[in-house]
Amino acid sequence: MMALFKKKKYIRINPNRDAKPSTTPSVPDNMWAKCPNCKRTLYAKEMGPEKVCPHCGYNFRISAWERLALLIDEKSFEESGTELETKDPLDFPGYLDKLKGLREQTGLHEAVLTGKATINGLPLYLGIMDANFIMGSMGTVVGEKITRLFEQALAEKLPVVLFTASGGARMQEGIFSLMQMAKISAAVQRFHKAGLFYLTVLTDPTTGGVTASFAMEGDIILAEPQTMIGFAGRRVIEQTIKQKLPEDFQKAEFLQEHGFVDAIVPRQQLKDKVYQLVEMHTMKGWDDDESSE
Ligand SMILES: [Zn+2]
Repeated sequence: MMALFKKKKYIRINPNRDAKPSTTPSVPDNMWAKCPNCKRTLYAKEMGPEKVCPHCGYNFRISAWERLALLIDEKSFEESGTELETKDPLDFPGYLDKLKGLREQTGLHEAVLTGKATINGLPLYLGIMDANFIMGSMGTVVGEKITRLFEQALAEKLPVVLFTASGGARMQEGIFSLMQMAKISAAVQRFHKAGLFYLTVLTDPTTGGVTASFAMEGDIILAEPQTMIGFAGRRVIEQTIKQKLPEDFQKAEFLQEHGFVDAIVPRQQLKDKVYQLVEMHTMKGWDDDESSE
């Protein structure tokens, strides 16, 4: 059984790396968009590269590539894990074709983008999940990419910043999906034990098993405003307990009030906040400060 997770089970492919990063997530640049929060109609350009509603501050969903561009020093990104390929363990009809199509459409290798980058010159390992790719679901490749992200960061004693967005397990990989959560949690544990810094940023929507595992294992947990965060969906819970739930029970703000989220950070301030926290927790920086006379 464990042999399924050994490296040899992943075959090398030559993915289409010519694909351009997606510039068309939920809101194309040249279109009118309706804000799902304040319901006002706005010209997409008004939202700026951050894609934030100028009227109410709603954070539109953005792609992993867009988020990367907002966050890191230009040209500092070294992508990792693109050699990994799923073995399609359930032989799920049409699954491999679906992946191929999504790769071309999004310019992403999988539902998570991983690699090393710098923010204002500070090196770190970065993972960004993308809900446009089969709802950011956890398959074996996503699990392996995130696990290796922690292993690489541990080897180099660098921090990890992980942006979560997920609908949960990947149906097309069944039970093998669920096993990824435990595998990542174990890697996070080893990382924690080494005293390294792990920051999670919950973005809309962070649901399912991801919420019950590594999304909530960060040393510090940030969230974007109004992010939906939950394990089971509203309908599932309401049908189970036969009660109506409060309107905001799965919103980041509700979770912050109840102590599950450390801070809500608007997207425009996220880069500064991430930099500040990583810098504060980089021990090397402290040594440098003391010795710089
Ligand atoms: Zn709005």
